[in-house]
Amino acid sequence: MSQARLMDGTALAARIVEETAKRAAVLTGRTGTAPCLATVLVGEDPASVTYVKMKQNRCRRAGITSRHVALPAATTTGDLVATLRELSADPGVHGILLQHPMGDHIDERAAFEAIAPEKDVDGVTFASFATMSFGLPGFVSCTPGGIMRLLDEYGVDPAGKRAVVVGRSAILGKPAGMLLLARDATVTYCHSRTRDLSAAVREADIVVAAVGRPRLIRGQDLKPGAVVVDAGYNAGNVGDVDFDSAVERASLITPVPGGVGPMTIATLLEQTVDAAERQLAA
Ligand code: NAP
Repeated sequence: MSQARLMDGTALAARIVEETAKRAAVLTGRTGTAPCLATVLVGEDPASVTYVKMKQNRCRRAGITSRHVALPAATTTGDLVATLRELSADPGVHGILLQHPMGDHIDERAAFEAIAPEKDVDGVTFASFATMSFGLPGFVSCTPGGIMRLLDEYGVDPAGKRAVVVGRSAILGKPAGMLLLARDATVTYCHSRTRDLSAAVREADIVVAAVGRPRLIRGQDLKPGAVVVDAGYNAGNVGDVDFDSAVERASLITPVPGGVGPMTIATLLEQTVDAAERQLAA
């Protein structure tokens, strides 16, 4: 069998960001107000600091202003919730990104729920999960939303297909499965307690790997011709799929890096402009 075609997230994300920047410019010209994303970071975890800086840079390049709130590592859940409620009530802020993880002493769910649903551009609240799952207007979780855009771009229609999502985190695996279900895939979730992961993956027409274990899924685990989306990002720029063996067996595959990662940020920027358009029209 010939090698899989690559799903190029970098190129698609660049097109989405270009379109988003045009919309941001039109909105700013019309209202005199640029879309604004508030980024909230608790502590100084180096990876989180890098991620937030990268998101701020991308915002700037797309004509979205960002307001950064840096809180000390010892911040309590109560203080964080109060900060997020203030940003939720601030008419100058259109979207809120709470960088996570935030430290074990913080009740992450309480913090996420302090974000007003209309500003939840990262798609982390219960309200966003519900609207996404019911196929109603709202914000999707950014990585799963980006994955669906990639599938659409490459002509993969999930309807009637068997999709296996490996991982069930609230921000990635679970919403990815819900979006595939909403598009009429038959969805199986796998996780750390799944018995015989390889057997489950072998059934899949579409595999979404969202685990955080380098090269867990190998080419021999795949059904020939499967579509493989690797959301994993592990030390050394390695995904959750063993790319070299998987590329020989899949029909389409995302590279790591350059597949899912850029789509996450593009979705965040796009949803920030969506939020600003709605709020500034109100
Ligand atoms: P997470 O919260 O740690 O969740 C990992 C999931 O994988 C859990 O559901 C866990 O099962 C499951 N799992 C762990 N070991 C397993 C195994 N051996 N077999 C099957 N399932 C297993 O991680 P996450 O936040 O979802 O992130 C997953 C990966 O995606 C990471 O590499 C992360 O860096 C990457 N990521 C990328 C982006 C992007 O923009 N590209 C965004 C977010 C995350 P249990 O539920 O049973 O514990």
